Amino acid sequence: MKVHLRTFGCRANHYDTEQVRALVAAMGASESDAADADVAVLNSCAVTSDAEADLRQAVRRIARESPGTRIVVTGCAAARSHETIAQLPNVTHVIAGADVAQVALALGGAAASTRLAAGEAATALLPLARRQSGARATLRVQDGCDEHCTFCATTLARGAHRSRDIATLVDEARGLAEHHPEIVITGVHVGSYGTEHGESIGVLVETLVREVPTVRFRLASVEATEVDPTLFSLLRDGGDRVCPYLHAPLQSGSDRVLRRMGRHWYTARTYAEAITRLTADRTVFGLGADIMTGFPGETAADHAETVALVRDLPFTHLHVFPFSPRPGTAAERLGDPVQPSVARERAAELRAIADEKQAAYAASRAGGIADVVVIGGTPVRTGLTEDYLEVEVAPDRARATRFAARLTAAGTRLRAQ
Ligand code: SF4
Repeated sequence: MKVHLRTFGCRANHYDTEQVRALVAAMGASESDAADADVAVLNSCAVTSDAEADLRQAVRRIARESPGTRIVVTGCAAARSHETIAQLPNVTHVIAGADVAQVALALGGAAASTRLAAGEAATALLPLARRQSGARATLRVQDGCDEHCTFCATTLARGAHRSRDIATLVDEARGLAEHHPEIVITGVHVGSYGTEHGESIGVLVETLVREVPTVRFRLASVEATEVDPTLFSLLRDGGDRVCPYLHAPLQSGSDRVLRRMGRHWYTARTYAEAITRLTADRTVFGLGADIMTGFPGETAADHAETVALVRDLPFTHLHVFPFSPRPGTAAERLGDPVQPSVARERAAELRAIADEKQAAYAASRAGGIADVVVIGGTPVRTGLTEDYLEVEVAPDRARATRFAARLTAAGTRLRAQ
């Protein structure tokens, strides 16, 4: 059997696809392009209307170009728009979220199916991916979220927060460390890791660093005000074991807009204080954030507050996107919409500031030392530094290796030698 795998969306989705990839291998099946596939498994995203449109477009293209290919859709859009997706051509299974056991049944893995149908524990049957397709590995440590941001479809799609247990995560990380020099810790709301059993994300990372000594760990995304003291020390003083990097969703620099978003656990001031403490006297620190423009009710003054905060804080990159109303979310029912053109203008303004800050930060790193993981690519081979800068590396550098390098300016890019 030939299986085509495609992932839309976030790192948590990419992790889930890697588990399906391991399942496909365990079933003795092989991966292929969509055109040659017997089955296509598309792991969907519901974070924006564009993400769901991209999925529908991909399904229709596969059905058109490869009429014999069965299509299985998993992920967040599958959870949110089940009926719509089920009516698309060639779709035989719509599986909400990250249910690899159901994917096993959909792929018709006879052995797995029989044993799963007989009630055997999926975790016992389904192989955890010990080797992933990227140079860097992802490790999803929790799923779901107990917050209810008014714009968010993800929390509706992935359900309540639940942490994976530390022993399983350590064992999985040990396996990944045999093949990957960096492990990215991901989830839907990583900062809430362990809250249901008295643990914390800091304790988890500390344990992973101790128990899996050969790799560096990177936090994909943690709320700024949810960086606990243990994680704080690891991000600042983790040496070459924890990347000096944080992606801390901000969404808006206006407290009025944050309240309308339902993001009650921080204000612009507490966010800024947390970031300032974390990055104080650190010349090497990658800092990113998600920012949404054009949220219902956002005024020019609100936007100006966001611009001011972005200018003040040491961001090295930003992920900026205009508000996208999601069906079934509270924000969809909020009045006072912002013109899409205005939302796009505001996003463009913030992206321009982000580009300036990123270029200035990269220039400040020229001449410095970096810890580089080789990502790959031809003819230009790239690597990623500990502080999340993409750099050029020599063509003979092996993929998924790691080396200490001096950074030199090469036009608008940095080169690692
Ligand atoms: S914190 Fe908010 S935006 Fe993030 S997953 Fe939870 S509800 Fe969604």
